[in-house]
Amino acid sequence: MKAVVKEKAAPGARLMDVDVPAPGPRDVLIKVKAAAICGTDIHIMEWPPFAQARIKPPMIFGHECSGEVVKVGDQVKNIAVGDLVAVETHIPDETCFMCQTGLQHICEKMAIIGVHVDGVFAEYAKIPAVCCWKLARDTNPDLGAILEPWGVAVNGILKGEVNNRTVAVFGCGPIGLMGLGSIHAWGASKIFAVEPSEMRLSMVPQFAPDAVLINPAKDNAAKVILDATGGRGVDVSIDISGNPRAIQAAFEVVRRAGRVTLVGLPSEPVTLELTANVIYKEARVFGSTGRMMWQTWYEMQNLMDSGKFDPMPVITHRMPLADFAKGIELAQSGKAGKILLYP
Ligand SMILES: [Zn+2]
Ligand SMILES: [Zn+2]
Repeated sequence: MKAVVKEKAAPGARLMDVDVPAPGPRDVLIKVKAAAICGTDIHIMEWPPFAQARIKPPMIFGHECSGEVVKVGDQVKNIAVGDLVAVETHIPDETCFMCQTGLQHICEKMAIIGVHVDGVFAEYAKIPAVCCWKLARDTNPDLGAILEPWGVAVNGILKGEVNNRTVAVFGCGPIGLMGLGSIHAWGASKIFAVEPSEMRLSMVPQFAPDAVLINPAKDNAAKVILDATGGRGVDVSIDISGNPRAIQAAFEVVRRAGRVTLVGLPSEPVTLELTANVIYKEARVFGSTGRMMWQTWYEMQNLMDSGKFDPMPVITHRMPLADFAKGIELAQSGKAGKILLYP
């Protein structure tokens, strides 16, 4: 089969012919229908220290996808050949303290598909059955491929309430945009969207039509938000950018006893003014990573079933798997929403 392989411990990757993987007793084999490019894939391609510390070449990368099940291991009971599934990237060990207390997504021995084990930028992929989210068979496979990144936003947003709350979102890449659509659908009273890329900012109204758009390259985001909330600040502040300046602003604009959720990953330690912005405010601070298994997926399903939000407009480009390098470069440029690859 054709697969995108990170061949060496150096920048780049190559489309190669490799063997179709053989599923183990608790795995399924899927025929990949659609795969999406994520920031992690950009890192794997470019090979910064983040990737060097995690990736052991040669390996197939890519982790966001949907696929049709073509083989199931002997011990797999809940998935059948012909099922359409979306892939959950966290592989929990199912035995540690976190797994036993309902928090598999932060398993102490977690492996990640497309990072620690072979991924999905390929014609076929071996997926543990515990990582399969079954979709109705008539679901658009493109939708299945973007549930994983959408869930990153949903998990962070739902660390508390957003209905009838004022919410500021820092970072409007694909995850931020889908997050904004969800926050709007869940009935936030006022939404602020902060993003330095004009292209991405221009996509926000499709997701949250009444959001106040702020370009921090032009305006002081914290000042705009504080002025618009009578100086009190917002109830909920969510950072999806990982940018240190945005994280600082997220703390500046949260109101007293408000909530900050951090989803974006800063590449270095961030300096925070804790006395004024957290302690005196009695702010509540949450980290959020990946998706809860499977609460987050049910939340997404509920929202889709309600008809109040459709994340599909986040997909701006579609291309064959062979064009993966072009797609990753486009994703890196920030001039795209979600980019899908088709094996
Ligand atoms: Zn991802
Ligand atoms: Zn575990």
